[in-house]
Amino acid sequence: MRLVLLGPPGAGKGTQAQVLCERFGIPQISTGDILREHVQEGTPLGIRARAFMDRGEYVPDEVVVEMVMDRLEEPDAEKGFVLDGFPRTVPQAEALERALAARGRPLDAVLCFAVADVTAIARLTGRYTCPTCKRTYHREFSPPAVDLVCDLDGTELVRRSDDDDLTAKRRLAVYREQTAPLEQFYRERGLLLEIDAEAPKDEVAGRAEAALEELLERRA
Ligand code: ADP
Ligand code: AMP
Repeated sequence: MRLVLLGPPGAGKGTQAQVLCERFGIPQISTGDILREHVQEGTPLGIRARAFMDRGEYVPDEVVVEMVMDRLEEPDAEKGFVLDGFPRTVPQAEALERALAARGRPLDAVLCFAVADVTAIARLTGRYTCPTCKRTYHREFSPPAVDLVCDLDGTELVRRSDDDDLTAKRRLAVYREQTAPLEQFYRERGLLLEIDAEAPKDEVAGRAEAALEELLERRA
């Protein structure tokens, strides 16, 4: 299964990616997570990316495309993948389409999680992340059992520096301007599944599963 997750920051892509990856036994490829690892390790790519990320803007296409192409070459991506946060621009989507066509393995579906801006902001500004397993929590909507500690591995949870109110608003504006056109890009290709993500996460997961099953049945 080869899936792309679309939707504004805070829509719940990372949360739903984990559910889909478990269900299909495929890796989650989150460009945000890979970039944050580069930043943390101080690699040349990380040093270049950081300024863009701090401002809530996109890292240049050529940097991200090369990073994803390398990741797709890894053996675990053979059986499929969930791309979370990529593509985010039309040139990225075109590069992905070309690369997958060359392998004869196109995308199966693009799930687009829709939420209102106020919902996205409330989710982002209350988000906590485990730096070890990358699982996300929310102060109010999905708190850990012990305050600020990951349920799975006991690591202390952190807040992302770009989840402050101002940067979150900038990221939403960048999404509307540069990424929203991808909805039409994938709709034209018959790949887009629009999911109303204004519901608790289990309900959203059920909606995603139903939409995906319906699409696969239609194609069978
Ligand atoms: P994205 O990857 O799209 O930026 P995340 O999956 O990290 O979004 O979710 C953002 C925040 O919202 C996290 O704190 C997460 O726990 C919370 N969250 C995710 N899905 C839901 C939901 N359906 N209802 C309430 N909170 C949610
Ligand atoms: P995310 O973790 O998906 O919210 O991404 C965090 C930040 O990483 C974004 O605000 C961008 O600065 C950068 N980023 C992640 N994915 C991409 C991408 N596909 N293209 C450009 N920048 C990206």
